[in-house]
Parts: sequence; structure tokens; C-alpha cells
Amino acid sequence: MKEIVVVSGKGGSGKTTFAASLAYLLHQEGFKVMAADVDVDTPTLHFMLPIKKRLKRYEIYMSRKAIIDNAKCNNCLKCLEVCPYDAITMNGSLGKPYVNTLYCEGCGACALACPASAISMSEWKTGFMTLGETEFGFPIFTAQLEVGEHNTGPLVHELRDRAAEIAREMGVDVLVTDGSPGIGCTVIASVVGASYTAVVSEPTPQSFRGAFRATKIAQQFRVHAGFIINKSMNYPIEEEAEKMLSMMNARLIGKIPYDYAVVEALTMLKPVVAYKPDSEASRAIRLAYENIKVGVGLK
Ligand code: SF4
Ligand code: SF4
Repeated sequence: MKEIVVVSGKGGSGKTTFAASLAYLLHQEGFKVMAADVDVDTPTLHFMLPIKKRLKRYEIYMSRKAIIDNAKCNNCLKCLEVCPYDAITMNGSLGKPYVNTLYCEGCGACALACPASAISMSEWKTGFMTLGETEFGFPIFTAQLEVGEHNTGPLVHELRDRAAEIAREMGVDVLVTDGSPGIGCTVIASVVGASYTAVVSEPTPQSFRGAFRATKIAQQFRVHAGFIINKSMNYPIEEEAEKMLSMMNARLIGKIPYDYAVVEALTMLKPVVAYKPDSEASRAIRLAYENIKVGVGLK
């Protein structure tokens, strides 16, 4: 099974729009495809690939929180002193320390410091994953964080592993993963071990800067990478970006023009290649798609 991961150096560059189109085109061409969204901070792939049928829901427990046993607590207040996140305050009515779970990062310092062994660390729900079937007939795997939880590299690893396991069980040929934006450990966790990484950037300095760095991450982990300029208006900065890419030995595999059809498709909850297949953006996406197929060995 091949895995194509779509990332961007910054949110809002069009990563998810491209991932949805990629999954749709592969499905149209007869590949057994599954779409996976590991951008758990803002999972939106299912907006463009709407879930028609929910097949399974899994809960994720990768966090931990401090729990205080009031019966054992002797009110020494050491836990308040050591908590680096000010997550422990006094409960006025009970006169006992109380953990605000939204602030607790699960570091365990309070449990270590407590002389009465009144604090234990408890597993906590990080979020949940859903396996469903899109209205186009192929499966989609998506995940969402609980309020107050945050994305981490290990979480992205876990989600990709679960998605790949399910995809293999379903006999999928190509897994299209909508990865995390940015350049942090969640992007590294999105890219490592993939068959191919498509890096999407809009033509702004901030987006290019992040996307170049995401491309470097892929190169350092020896993952084939292709660069896509989205919302292209042939600005001078795009030429500069192309020069930079050639200095980095990175390939530009597509330039998707700014096209109002993409906005219309978003409001209709469809990938643009399904909503307006003859639009300029759709034609450009298909060219990038053909390049990716070559890069990933699907031709
Ligand atoms: S450190 Fe332990 S005993 Fe002391 S106030 Fe906190 S919970 Fe109570
Ligand atoms: S586990 Fe860490 S963050 Fe949570 S309450 Fe204890 S010291 Fe604070």
C-alpha cells in the first residue's frame, strides 16, 4: 500500500482542498483509496469528502491528568507550589486543592511531590477517531481532539498507524493523508515513512517559508516530495520560489491558479475536481495528480 501525505508550511494554504481532490481522483481512476485526516487541531477533510455512513468510532486515550484523593490529602499545599502550569487551586467550599483538568498537562510533578501519596495520574481522553464512508463510496478516517487537548507528534504517529492498519485490512491501494500544517514535530510525524509528500503553499512569503522547511523535512527523511503552488497569480515571488526550489533540488509538480470555482466547491462541500471538473483549478490539480502518480509509482 502507498501513502501520499499532503502537508503545508502554514494553515490555510489549500492542503486539505488538494488532499480531497487527490483522493477523489484516485477513486475515480479505479484505485482502492482511503482518505485520512490527521490534522486533529482543525480536521476539515470530511467537509469536502462528506461522511455518508459512520462505520466505527474509536476513543483515544493518550493524555493523563492528576487526580487528588481528598481523603488522603493533609493540605500541605506542596502540589500548588510545584505545578508549573498553575493547574491546582484551592477549592473554597471544600478547603482542599483542586485540579483544573483544562490546565493540567499531565507532567506528574504534583504526584511526585505529594508527601501523602494523595495524587495519582489518570488516563484521560485525548479525542476520538471516526471511520466512515464518504458520499463518493470510499472510506475516510478522521480524528478530533477533545476541548483543551493538543496535538502532538506521538498522537499523529498513532493516528497514522491506526489509519494504515484499517486501510490494509480493507485492501486499500492508496492512503491519502491530510497531514498537519506547520514545521513542528506533528509535521515530522505526518511525513516519516510515507511513500510521497505533497507540499502545498500559497504564494505569500510566510507560506513559502514554511513550505520550504516542510520540504526539507521530507528530504531529510528521504521521502519523495513534490511542491505545489496553490492560488497562483504568477506573482514575481512565485519565480523566486521556483529558483529556491531548484537550489533545494526540490520539484515543482503543479501550479494551481486562483479560481473562484474552489470557493464555490467549498461551499458545496465537494472537492473542486468533482464540483467543477473543467475549471482551471481542476485542470491544474489533475496535472499535479499525474505527477504524483509518477512519483509514487502508480503508473
Ligand atoms: S501535596 Fe498532596 S497532601 Fe499536600 S495539598 Fe497537595 S494533595 Fe494534599
Ligand atoms: S500533573 Fe503537572 S500539570 Fe497536572 S496538576 Fe500536576 S503538576 Fe500540574
